[in-house]
Amino acid sequence: MLDNPEDGSWQSGSMSAQELVLRQRTEILHALCSSRSSEILERVLDMLLARGTLVWEDYQNIQISEAQKAGLSFGAYSSDPELTEAPCGASATQTLLTERPGLVSKLRGCIDGALHVLVESGSFTSTDCDEVQLPIFTPSQQARHLLDHVRSKGEAAARVLLQYILQNQEHASHLNQETWTPTEDCFKYKKKLSSSVAVQSCFLSTYGGTSNMTLDDIYTESQLELAHDCADVLGSLSLEDLVGIVGTLNEDADTVLVSGEAGCGKSTLLQRLHLLWAQGAALQDFFLLFPFSCRRLNSEHRELSVQELLFHHCCWPDREQDQIFQFILDHPHLILFTFDGLDELKQNFSDEHRHCCPTQRAPVPILLFNLLQGSLMKGVRKVVTSRPEAVGPALKKYLRKEVHLKGFSPSGIDCFVRKHHSDPAVAARVLESLQTNTALLGLCHTPVLCWIVSQCHKELLGCGEGSPQTITDVYLMILQHFFQHQNPQKTLRIGWMQEHLNTALHLGLLAFKGIGNSCYIFSDTDLQTCGVTEEDICMGFLIHSKDISSNSCKRLEFLHVTMQCFFAALYIVLNSAMDRSAIAKLFGLQGMSQTGMSSTCFMACLPSTVQPELALEGEAIAVETANLQITATFVSGLLSQRYRGLLLHCCSSSTIDRKIRQVARCLSKRMQKHFKSISQPVEGEKKSMHAMPAFVWLIKCIYEMQESRLAQDIMSKLDVQHLKLTYCNIGPVECTALAYVLQHLKSPVGLQLDYNSVGDVGVEQLLPCMHVCNSLYLRNNNISDEGICKLIAKVIHCDNFQKIALFNNKLTDACTQHFSRLLKTKQNFLALRLGNNNITAEGAKQLAEGLQCNQSLQYLGLWGNKIGDTGAEALARALMGNKSLLWLSLVENGVGNAGACALADIVKNSTTLEELCLTKNYITRTGVECLIQALKHNTHVKSVWLKSNELSVEEVEEMTQRESRLIF
Ligand code: ADP
Repeated sequence: MLDNPEDGSWQSGSMSAQELVLRQRTEILHALCSSRSSEILERVLDMLLARGTLVWEDYQNIQISEAQKAGLSFGAYSSDPELTEAPCGASATQTLLTERPGLVSKLRGCIDGALHVLVESGSFTSTDCDEVQLPIFTPSQQARHLLDHVRSKGEAAARVLLQYILQNQEHASHLNQETWTPTEDCFKYKKKLSSSVAVQSCFLSTYGGTSNMTLDDIYTESQLELAHDCADVLGSLSLEDLVGIVGTLNEDADTVLVSGEAGCGKSTLLQRLHLLWAQGAALQDFFLLFPFSCRRLNSEHRELSVQELLFHHCCWPDREQDQIFQFILDHPHLILFTFDGLDELKQNFSDEHRHCCPTQRAPVPILLFNLLQGSLMKGVRKVVTSRPEAVGPALKKYLRKEVHLKGFSPSGIDCFVRKHHSDPAVAARVLESLQTNTALLGLCHTPVLCWIVSQCHKELLGCGEGSPQTITDVYLMILQHFFQHQNPQKTLRIGWMQEHLNTALHLGLLAFKGIGNSCYIFSDTDLQTCGVTEEDICMGFLIHSKDISSNSCKRLEFLHVTMQCFFAALYIVLNSAMDRSAIAKLFGLQGMSQTGMSSTCFMACLPSTVQPELALEGEAIAVETANLQITATFVSGLLSQRYRGLLLHCCSSSTIDRKIRQVARCLSKRMQKHFKSISQPVEGEKKSMHAMPAFVWLIKCIYEMQESRLAQDIMSKLDVQHLKLTYCNIGPVECTALAYVLQHLKSPVGLQLDYNSVGDVGVEQLLPCMHVCNSLYLRNNNISDEGICKLIAKVIHCDNFQKIALFNNKLTDACTQHFSRLLKTKQNFLALRLGNNNITAEGAKQLAEGLQCNQSLQYLGLWGNKIGDTGAEALARALMGNKSLLWLSLVENGVGNAGACALADIVKNSTTLEELCLTKNYITRTGVECLIQALKHNTHVKSVWLKSNELSVEEVEEMTQRESRLIF
């Protein structure tokens, strides 16, 4: 996670752990505080304290200064001089310190009991208890306070506490063997609930009306990844991992967040989870599962208790309601709540209103927020889905873990298309056509787009050259498909949009009003106000809103929220009476803040006759911005010159031209705002731009317009040497757009795309802009040999291209021959970093072939591969006589003495090498002796890193004395 010369940071150079900590201060702080809860920091402090790395005084200073700075709620009481002294012998107070991390976790669930015995034994007063139990503390913090208090009371109190913990543990293990027995009514309720959940979840809404396909038939695994690095987890998580312990950041929290963009499959994932539970196929540790949709909770205006919320919104118990609810309260760990689409809740998450009583009524958002925080129904596991925009720091601090849903993998697309088409020949043709159109293939990583493409296979296969490239193309294809579906005999003519103009405008108005109003479910009155007719409904874009409680009246919603955004965009483009400022407002210009566009302003763009009767509520919520951004992307696409002909059947050419000019102007202005924010570089550093969140969106809008002149014009104003787009959620679609725009840059840049989801398809999409890249950073991007093969075939011909960093991808020996070719061919290539991949001795031999013919490479990083002695020897042979290499890293590669001795030959002879990294290998005294002898002949080498090899403390000491450039 941290920047490391090994994995391709822009500067290189070795440093001690201390230096590293200093240099990486910001990243470390970010890592410690990223969850916005002090828990991680406190746990690290516990460990440091237990190991004696931190003395008590330092610990308290940190607590106090942190508490002052960040408002953290620990360490508020005065220090006790006794505590600052190191305890002697293995006393009980000392045990409290050395075993602190474990004791904190053991005490968390039994603070009350511990306080009770401490009071009983006379060690604690009630004031002591109150201080420990302050409600602002989390259970872990209470446990820490308890430990600190007990230490201040001395040996006797410490012994009482340790004795209690021991007894309590024995008691708990005894209890664990006991089984819980629900009453017959509870069992009946479970049966009723699961059959209702099964009915609700067995069909996907996108297949409900038109096919008999069940969720079981079509469900395809999508990529689910932890939002934070976790050493134990590689690759995708399973559904069960969502609620399992994998990747838990905060054990005190109950809420698991699944975040992902619109259409990436969040609702479907939950639906799958529900169905598997209801079928008894998974999550059977949970006796009851209660599914909620935030979209539907929006229409609950009554105040409810938790009991009413569960029973009214999910499943009504036919008898013994109170008994069943009591069972739920008594066994929180057997209960699972899911909340789909937190982003669609009309109110932003807030933790200002505390509500702790499950039988007392409160407005539904307050209930929901308190459930997520854990102040209500503590211990009940909650899974919530949301688009990333709607998750702020206020919620993050209550999360148990966060996972990102990243849509389909390339094999997922394949699998989905095959499941979708019962005729394997059709599936094969669709897949073939996707292979020839990688821009479209990129789009298909988003499941909703993959569904559209599969649904429209006839249009897709029939369109030859004009196969869709942009998201707008795909949505226009489904629009055409649904119109056609209504009247299959009639062939669609050029003026098809005009023929259905009324439907487009009616649904467009409904969508537009909904987007501005955070309204996604529509009543009869809404439909009437917008003039939506039965005929419009029959087109299939609107579906009946599913509600698990059957007593709600039938209402409609769009097939998917992106479809609603598309219709809103159609309305903006097709409606001649649209306010002239609408487009500027949509792009966040004209008096609205960059991120928080106000829906009220947006709604004011409507002709007064159709302005909503509903008063708009409160501030704009984050997801409105996200929906407006999707809408703006579609507006850009619809106003592309390519669709001028289509639109001319519906509006005047002057109106279309005006709107096109307006969009181009908005995009240009917003981009320039970004460029202006780039700060001047510090002397000696490159001029660098770190992309703001809206940057990628604007790039996508430019791409949708497919106007290379516009892209050229905008890029001519960008003057940077380094473009940083790390952690920007960049997948293949974004790569297509980036390449389309960046290829027009005036001068070459370093393109840093670390920690995204570029993948092989994305790499291929980036090719058109490689000629303006001098360095490419693709750490952690799920790239395999296939992508690299295509990349190298391109960059080998790009004069500017000099550096590549591919740390932590999926590379094997199958890609090294391509790098070898690159090294042979490009005599200006400077840095190759392949750390943490899967390269063995065979791969190293291939690289060696290339190295032998190369006289430009300065940095070669292979940390964390498996090249072994044979690989190291091959590299060493190849580097004999090399006159360019400055830095070579073979850290953690299974290198032993044979490898070390071979490398010693380079050390002896090289006139350029400054640093050799051999940390974490199997080198013993013999190997190091070779290196020492070699260093005698070389004054150029600055350091040879040998930490964590097979050497005794005495050997290390002796060798350091003999050769100070060896670092152990
Ligand atoms: P989100 O909730 O993230 O907006 P959805 O779950 O509503 O996305 O997905 C939109 C559509 O994409 C679904 O209706 C379905 O057609 C398709 N889809 C999503 N995920 C999957 C999946 N795992 N398997 C099959 N189809 C999926």
